[in-house]
Amino acid sequence: MIPSDIIAKKRNGEELKTNDLSRFISEYLKNNISDAQMSALLMAIYFNGMTESELSTLVHEMINSGETIKFEKSEFYVGDKHSTGGVGDKTSLILAPVLAAAGLRIPMIAGRSLEYTGGTIDKLEAIPDINISPSLNKFKRWVNNIGCAIISQSKEICPADNKIYALRNQTATVPSIPIICSSIMSKKIAEGISGLVIDIKIGNGAFMKSKNDALELSNLMKKIAISFGINIDIIFSNMNQPLGKFAGLGCEIKEAIDSLEGNGPKDLMDNVFELCSYLLIQSGKATNRNQAKLIFNSIIESGKGLEYFEKMVSSQNGRLDALKSNIIPKFEKVVESDKDGTINHMNTEKIGWALIELGCGHKRERDSLDYTAGIEFLAKTGDVIRKGSPIFRLFNSNINRLDASLALLTDTINVHK
Ligand code: URA
Repeated sequence: MIPSDIIAKKRNGEELKTNDLSRFISEYLKNNISDAQMSALLMAIYFNGMTESELSTLVHEMINSGETIKFEKSEFYVGDKHSTGGVGDKTSLILAPVLAAAGLRIPMIAGRSLEYTGGTIDKLEAIPDINISPSLNKFKRWVNNIGCAIISQSKEICPADNKIYALRNQTATVPSIPIICSSIMSKKIAEGISGLVIDIKIGNGAFMKSKNDALELSNLMKKIAISFGINIDIIFSNMNQPLGKFAGLGCEIKEAIDSLEGNGPKDLMDNVFELCSYLLIQSGKATNRNQAKLIFNSIIESGKGLEYFEKMVSSQNGRLDALKSNIIPKFEKVVESDKDGTINHMNTEKIGWALIELGCGHKRERDSLDYTAGIEFLAKTGDVIRKGSPIFRLFNSNINRLDASLALLTDTINVHK
């Protein structure tokens, strides 16, 4: 195989042969193909897309790059959720324990930040000592004992996604429909689930900027799920502004805990419920949305959701009692409105980049994170504000990065008179 020949074929819009694509991926994992060559192939895919046959090869290759999990047939429905990514999206942290409390099994493999979107794994790591890369036996044991666990792709499970994911993040090759599809579906299929709900975010803070792109991604995901015998539901949700009141690292864990205590912001809780309802219905725990709502509300109101979150974190070695002191920021600044009016637009992608600048994500592979960093949204779209009203509260523990982030936030909201 000549790697540059395969890259050139894809660059020229030709369909790659199954063997060529498979070998390209497997040789990349063995370091016989360089990051530069893989980046070039990803960029060629970004521009030319993939045929369904190429996509199917890619998904199979990514799944088979590592081990897969099998759950023995039992009374427990094994399901999961994944989002295509957004700003302030901490839904998984609430959904997994709620569904575990409802009697489902949720073996969730999540990711780190991608471009300007936050990563569930980065947020979880704000909890001191949490283990997000256990052996697969341990992962399975946690899921069977507690009902849910959240880990990262690794050298053991989905190593191809693990390596390519980090590369995509540095090379502006994330927003490719077939690559997003293969990244998400390979992780979910490797988990050994029976059912899945996908949240395709659409808007100025999402990789899918248009409904048409979202529909194309949805169709591909459905075809792949069906070919692996997985029940799938897909929702489309709005990402034209951040989800909830906070975005960042430790502050999103805190907001997830507040939500499990019954104090979650409405937009976030509506999104969590919508996703939970599909898995509650798939699993037979509820026969319709109304029943799902009753189950969901009782889990939140009784504190069972929070109890499962605490059990999940402690089984993963995390020390929730040490969270608070780990996420106290040294610096904060408040951005105020310079006019009266109604907020009618938020540039969510730019807000996401401001979060990365604060220390909430990886611009390069091994950038260290600032778990104290985040933004509180003191006003959102539709709010009527006055000149001098606070809009954003930024916080972190590095003043230079705080100032750089502040500069990025300029003109991220539009106020209409
Ligand atoms: N989440 C993933 O796991 N992969 C993507 O490509 C996008 C979101």
